[in-house]
Amino acid sequence: MAKIFKLDTFKNIASLRGETTSLADYPCINACHWPTSMENGRCTVCGLYDYQHSPVFWKSLPKLERKMINLNNSEKGYKIKQIYK
Ligand SMILES: [Zn+2]
Repeated sequence: MAKIFKLDTFKNIASLRGETTSLADYPCINACHWPTSMENGRCTVCGLYDYQHSPVFWKSLPKLERKMINLNNSEKGYKIKQIYK
């Protein structure tokens, strides 16, 4: 008989692997090296501004705001973790 996994199981495995599970997740990929990837106060890779680049600050933002920031940056051509592989 096939085992049935709840979706949460896959989400947990993905987050253990360091993979993203939500558009609201921190968008930095390995190419982001703060502060060397910063130019004019903005990360040239993921598009976050320097103050947004702090993981503590990022977590303090509402989920919807984080999603909007990621969508806007992705649309402008920045490489966010959720889309860029
Ligand atoms: Zn970055």
